Amino acid sequence: MSRLVLIFAAFAGSLAVAAEPPKPNIVFIVGDDMGYADVGFHGCKDIPTPHLDALAKSGTRFTNGYVSGPYCSPTRAGLLTGRYQNRFGHEFNPAGGQQGLPTTEVTIADKFKAAGYRTALVGKWHLGTGERHPQKRGFDDFFGFLGGAHDYFNPNGILRGTEPAGDKTYLTDAIARESVAFIDRNKDRPFFLYLAFNAVHTPMQADDPRLAKFASIKDPTRRKYAAMMSAMDDAVGQVVSKLKDAKLTEKTLVAFISDNGGPTMTGTTTNGSSNAPLRGSKRTTLEGGVRVPFVVSWPGTLPAGATDARPVIQLDLHATALGASGLGVKPDAKLDGVDLLPFLTIRKTETPHAALYWRFGQQMAIRKGDWKLVKYDLAAEGGKGTSAAKLYNLADDIGEATDLAAKEPARVRDLQAAWDDWNKGNVKPLWGGGKAE
Ligand code: CA
Repeated sequence: MSRLVLIFAAFAGSLAVAAEPPKPNIVFIVGDDMGYADVGFHGCKDIPTPHLDALAKSGTRFTNGYVSGPYCSPTRAGLLTGRYQNRFGHEFNPAGGQQGLPTTEVTIADKFKAAGYRTALVGKWHLGTGERHPQKRGFDDFFGFLGGAHDYFNPNGILRGTEPAGDKTYLTDAIARESVAFIDRNKDRPFFLYLAFNAVHTPMQADDPRLAKFASIKDPTRRKYAAMMSAMDDAVGQVVSKLKDAKLTEKTLVAFISDNGGPTMTGTTTNGSSNAPLRGSKRTTLEGGVRVPFVVSWPGTLPAGATDARPVIQLDLHATALGASGLGVKPDAKLDGVDLLPFLTIRKTETPHAALYWRFGQQMAIRKGDWKLVKYDLAAEGGKGTSAAKLYNLADDIGEATDLAAKEPARVRDLQAAWDDWNKGNVKPLWGGGKAE
């Protein structure tokens, strides 16, 4: 080969490298059954969450961040597919057997794996077993458990891949260790880490050193909850600090949400959480069930220390991750989520969604602008059945206290019609209500 050809080959090679998209790493962190009030960046006083607060400060905190359901499994199905789970019948928690994320759906892990990312789930799956095992749904690596809840001290059911992990470490600490190890193994290539804590879901189990830190909290359930939150916060700190040590901070988009609101009503997995100032609980379409802490951080690319009041939903994290990685959203993907990056980077001023929608059995909700129409489970206030349609203006009534339905019948009709139109694109639930996990 002549010297000229060699020079040309080297030049072409460097061009090819320059044209490669940056392929940042993606880390989705999901808390379980957290109360809206229970993070420092929402004003929590009795449980310090310094690492979550630092994460929020390093990026954008959405003050109107939602999940697409009030229950564990449906919102995870929405996150991983970027679609309202009602589109494919994943309305309730699966109860075992053949129930789980339909294999017709493509997960975000499938997409990242196909694009050459190394992919891992560390923690809770809750989307089915057998052919729905995480390693059949796009995840190269898996450490955690397949169901909706797990003992924090008993290793039975904790798997590495498909084999018992035999791990006796307090589960939240084990999840931290495995997440850090995954980042370390893959620091030289793009990765997608889905870090799904079971904290602070029941059973209420905490380790003694952390419990001792919260001896001043009188209520024993709240004390355990505080210790479990603290363990999760420590784990987030370890992950963020590992990214920093590996010089990956500016090459990694980290998102944090809770999978649903705090379970505060009888009949749910009550854990000592607080959703104040929101009304309602996990298992309801009131704000307390579906409005959650919501952070997106990508230092150097997204603004730091920002808050954004535009309503967003966890479905958006799917599209945002695809946008960030340069994979983009395929026109036939039928995503309901929106890539949030243009709204954050070039400060696109529109709101990402004309409206957000919820359906959970007989319960429903739609939020359009500041207005919310909702039919909710009356068990939230000790009653039975589902409420009539109530109308709230969240701009000055975040606690959904003043029903304006009688005063604004035209607005009620408009919102109901918009919800009915959305609901035409949904299917019947593939299975029933299942357990309150
Ligand atoms: Ca949950």
